[in-house]
Amino acid sequence: MDRQNAFNFAAGPSTMPQSVLEKAAAELLNYNGSGMSVMEMSHRSAAFQEIFDKAKGTFRDLLHIPASHEILLLQGGATLQFAAIAMNLLAGGEADYAVTGRFSGRAAEEAKKYGTVHLACDTSSTGHDRIPPQEELKLTDGAKYFYYCANNTIYGTEWQYVPETACPLVCDMSSDILTRPVDFSKYALVYAGAQKNMAPAGLTVVVVRKELAGHELPFTPEMMSYDAMIRTDSMLNTPPCWCIYMFSLVLDWVRETGGVEVMRERAEKRSALLYDVLDESRLFIPHAQRDSRSLMNVTFSTGKKELDALFVAGAAARGLLGVKGHKSTGGMRASLYNAMPLEGAAKLAEYMREFEAEHV
Ligand SMILES: *Cc1c(COP(=O)(O)O)cnc(C)c1O
Repeated sequence: MDRQNAFNFAAGPSTMPQSVLEKAAAELLNYNGSGMSVMEMSHRSAAFQEIFDKAKGTFRDLLHIPASHEILLLQGGATLQFAAIAMNLLAGGEADYAVTGRFSGRAAEEAKKYGTVHLACDTSSTGHDRIPPQEELKLTDGAKYFYYCANNTIYGTEWQYVPETACPLVCDMSSDILTRPVDFSKYALVYAGAQKNMAPAGLTVVVVRKELAGHELPFTPEMMSYDAMIRTDSMLNTPPCWCIYMFSLVLDWVRETGGVEVMRERAEKRSALLYDVLDESRLFIPHAQRDSRSLMNVTFSTGKKELDALFVAGAAARGLLGVKGHKSTGGMRASLYNAMPLEGAAKLAEYMREFEAEHV
């Protein structure tokens, strides 16, 4: 399979902008006349420090992150943050968790080890096919934070509103960060594994309100202490240097393409191509309820396992790769992150129509 003929709809790690990969390839052996690859560079060198500072600065600019919040570039994946958030910010207190999918469910389970968790909602009874409206959220007086996952990567649902709560918000934005503007003043913490929309796997970006750090449980590992990471500017130990370099290239690409507002418009156009097919279809069944649909992960099935498998194989034969659904939901999932060209979504929509014509 040639790269030019392929579109990668995998949920993460996922497709990267072509121009970013070309730039990385051109600089792979000798970065900016340094005589070495970024991979070979000391994380304490001036050249790497420049890459690091630029990545943080561009991320802050693109998302208008206020000075009250620190940007941390960490390892351990989004999953390590399930515990880190609870150790640092819950620390024996109470918090509300909205469970709208697999990852928020696991975050709530993990947090129970370090404090009292109240479920603000739990959509598991209908297969996590929706995001509850504000009126449905059960809020606890005195909660330290309200936790939710903005985009449910597995189920293809996405919060269409920012919850209104008395306490600050904590949000897992692993699969929709950099796809729309965010008002960080409402958030105690936002975090994201980089491998969906920002960089190769191995980097986790955490944006934390500085004044909330420094109150972690005494047994919190140093590597999970936001306070320690703020004090060392994420360099308590060797950071994921190569991923941070790739992150900086992706951020440049987002900026050159027009920023997060343009990313949002592109996401709306791409996903509409597929949802239009689903809305007219007599074959495909969308998983997410209409008012909860994700712009990032479009989930659907035919309701028949063999037919789903046929669809996935036929897609791959055309270079439409990675459309198999998550093992827990089955069916199909087309992930349409920032780097997916509109043409990819158009090709998949066309294939869906042809497949339907053959199989209804
Ligand atoms: C992928 C994903 C995770 C898990 O990320 P890891 O980096 O593999 O730990 C958590 N939350 C969401 C929303 C995700 O999409």
